[in-house]
Amino acid sequence: MEAALPSPCLVISPHRDDACFSLGGAIHRWQELGREVTVVNLFTGHPGPLLSPQAEAYHQRFGALDLTELRRQRDQEALAILGVSSIDLNHQDCLYRLRADGVGWRYPEPEHIFGSLHPEESSLPRALIASLRSRIHLTETTLVLAPLAVGNHVDHQLAHRMAQLLAEEGLPVAFYEDAPYVFSPRGAEELTRRSSGMKAEVLRLEQRHMESKRKAIGAYRSPVPIEAFAAYSQSFAGGHAAERIWRLPT
Ligand SMILES: [Zn+2]
Repeated sequence: MEAALPSPCLVISPHRDDACFSLGGAIHRWQELGREVTVVNLFTGHPGPLLSPQAEAYHQRFGALDLTELRRQRDQEALAILGVSSIDLNHQDCLYRLRADGVGWRYPEPEHIFGSLHPEESSLPRALIASLRSRIHLTETTLVLAPLAVGNHVDHQLAHRMAQLLAEEGLPVAFYEDAPYVFSPRGAEELTRRSSGMKAEVLRLEQRHMESKRKAIGAYRSPVPIEAFAAYSQSFAGGHAAERIWRLPT
């Protein structure tokens, strides 16, 4: 059974598509029910003047387009479909973060992006919380939803740590399953490990919520096949449309 969710609700999204990919159906349902839902995008800042070879190769795929602005527009389109607003904290994506010495990148290769957090980022979760608090008032009933960090992306790890710190402060916190990382067999194993000791809460949805999610995902022009989202949601809910969150033990 789904418990009543307190209002308001913040969905922390490391990148612009994460909240929609993982919780788009529930977000749409909650706003339909009159809950105040805000998506908080963390790593939406512009790159600096220098790009790492990895970032340079990525940008070349988009030609001369301003990638940050393109993503912002697509996100606005998607969140309008879900009917919710967002705030952007505009920290830089891990692809763009320079080391403190200014002569190298913290995550120069893909294996770094899915590896351990750089030692210079141990205080970043607290800085992200300070950024969040400068933009929005968190009450003791604000439900914070954050990624479990399945897939181990460093930006998702930071979002997860941020929520753990807020939980330690006494805020209600729950974690969502990082799509599409959670779809793979390896992701499923990781989910078991990361959700250990937590309580699953299946959020049953109507087909119209999943349809809105499908349209919103389309706005991001992701290469992930749309069928993968529906197939995953049905895998743990007896064939029904659903999403799932995990609660910390009380
Ligand atoms: Zn992400």
